[in-house]
Amino acid sequence: MLFSSLRSTIGCACLLGGLTIAAGPTLIGTLPVDAASAPFSAVLVAFLGLAIGLVLRQLVLRRLDRVLKEQKAENLRFDTAINNMTQGLCFFDGQRRLIVCNNRYADLYKLSRDMVRRGTTLAEIVDHRFAAGSFPDMSRDDYLKWRESIAVADKASDTVSTLKDGRTIAIHHEPMPDGGWVATHADITEQCRTQAQIERMLRHDALTGLPNRLLFREHLNEALQRKRIAGHSLAVLCIDLDRFKEVNDTLGHPVGDQLLRAAAQRLNECVGQNDLVARLGGDEFAIVQTEATQPIEARALADRLVRVMAAPFRLEGHQVVVGVSVGVAVVAGDTVGDPDELLKEADLAMYEAKAGGRGKYSVFTPEMGAHVQGRRWLENDLRAAVDRGEFELFFQPIVGLADHRVRAFEALLRWHHPSRGLVMPDQFIALAEETGLIEAIGAWVLKDACSRAAQWPSRVGIAINLSPVQLRSGNLIAVVQAALQASGLSPTRLELEITESVPLAGNSHNLAMLHELRALGVRISLDDFGVGYSSLGYLRTFPFNKIKIDRSFVRDVAGNRDAAAIVRAVTTLGEDLGMAITAEGVETDEQWRLVRELGCEEAQGYFISRPRPAGEVDAILKIDSRLAVVRASAPC
Ligand code: C2E
Ligand code: CA
Ligand code: CA
Repeated sequence: MLFSSLRSTIGCACLLGGLTIAAGPTLIGTLPVDAASAPFSAVLVAFLGLAIGLVLRQLVLRRLDRVLKEQKAENLRFDTAINNMTQGLCFFDGQRRLIVCNNRYADLYKLSRDMVRRGTTLAEIVDHRFAAGSFPDMSRDDYLKWRESIAVADKASDTVSTLKDGRTIAIHHEPMPDGGWVATHADITEQCRTQAQIERMLRHDALTGLPNRLLFREHLNEALQRKRIAGHSLAVLCIDLDRFKEVNDTLGHPVGDQLLRAAAQRLNECVGQNDLVARLGGDEFAIVQTEATQPIEARALADRLVRVMAAPFRLEGHQVVVGVSVGVAVVAGDTVGDPDELLKEADLAMYEAKAGGRGKYSVFTPEMGAHVQGRRWLENDLRAAVDRGEFELFFQPIVGLADHRVRAFEALLRWHHPSRGLVMPDQFIALAEETGLIEAIGAWVLKDACSRAAQWPSRVGIAINLSPVQLRSGNLIAVVQAALQASGLSPTRLELEITESVPLAGNSHNLAMLHELRALGVRISLDDFGVGYSSLGYLRTFPFNKIKIDRSFVRDVAGNRDAAAIVRAVTTLGEDLGMAITAEGVETDEQWRLVRELGCEEAQGYFISRPRPAGEVDAILKIDSRLAVVRASAPC
């Protein structure tokens, strides 16, 4: 463009200026000259001179033409090169006048062809850019002030400029010795957008769009620094969805994901505008609450979270109730506060809330550390216990009240902890359920119990406790089938005990699982009957084979008319529904006699035998026909 025409003109001028024509004497001197033929010679010389002149002229013109063509081609190459640059390029002289620029520069700033002529001043160009909106966003007054004293850097520099239309331009400025400069202008809008997107992705959770752990920590750090200056207090809340795993396992991951998104939205709606909600991973969320009176407002927020999150979620036609446990840690205005420490405290408080029965919140106290730490140890040890073979099954006989013979044994789990000794199920089953470890443990129980029972006389059954978590999992049927197959035990000898904590009414998954088990030939018993809230109604949800009356009724049956009336009512109902009744926890001969009179068919309890190791089953079976009363000497 401008630069090419400039280069052509200069090039031609130089060539013409430098051209010299050598002719005459040197060449003529080589010809033979004769005096007699002088006139002829003169004509000949003149003719030759003319001819040589013409030839030389022709040669010169040809050369000039070639040089011009080469120059033109070079200019074209130069033009093509600078106009194909992805960056805008401009040269200004010491008087801030444009020498040359490429098309990209003109396009970048919406400069007309007129504008980009040699000699246009920098001020004219920026005026044009300001009017066209291809200039940083500023008021007219600010612009005029800036324009009055446009400063041109006298050192190489790199700057980034954001234009009013949103584009981002990276400018590299290189000063020239004559006071002018050359600059490249690169549109890095897309690059910035991609970078911003990557930045966002690094700091946000893709599923919920909430800040992730990284951003949460950065935000908490900043909030702690601000707090130090302003002197107010700050709270961190850790939130865990109580029944997330259940939903994920029974309704599938897509519904689990929907639940997380819906939960994230609800959490966001609960907090104040200065607070930050983050997803730390899985079903774990956290909040930083700032600029609030602590711990009053943190307690109020925790209370609100527990209430709001307890309301059902509607997900793909399912009504899902999850609830949350919340842990709160507060740092007072005059304390420095460490982000990791705070998060750990809130986490410990959250575990405490969970251990306290879920759907609750608790505020961190220093004593919590030791307690929760103990649980963590237990959890770690429990994880390794299956692999290390630390579990053992004890067996407690269930005896027919009429014939005194052993009908079945109930398998009861014991844990031989390497340092704590014998650990009873009450101390670890709940934790195993919470952590999901019960699935592996329960599978081991089924396998071990079935293989042992397969060695007993075929009239003796085996009763195994099932956790609600096992029922929820998708592979219970396969696990039961595998245990039966491996042991060769007939399914009719297997009784699975569930309690009322297994939701049945309206829970098609659990009901389907029970029906499938029944279809295999396995028997289903209702354990601990009477301690739930909806006992009688529960009995109608599924055709149980057996009802085991909880030992709290059996204990009272001798001295308490109500307890006796309840046992009587249950045996009558059992008869109507075709369900056998077992009395649990029979400890005395009076209880034995009474439960038999009240219509129970079977009894289980210390009066007959305590749970005993597998090796003692044979001995119990040998004496069962002689009214087996095997009082255990060991306290287990
Ligand atoms: P459960 O199913 O009700 O088991 C009966 C519990 O009552 C056993 O306690 C047994 O030792 C105790 N017991 C039996 N007769 C008497 C008696 O006459 N008096 C008194 N006071 N207690 C008696 P254990 O073995 O400590 O088991 C406690 C609970 O742990 C069980 O209650 C059951 O819910 C659970 N559990 C045990 N083993 C397993 C298992 O393999 N899987 C699952 N999911 N839960 C298990
Ligand atoms: Ca049981
Ligand atoms: Ca029971």
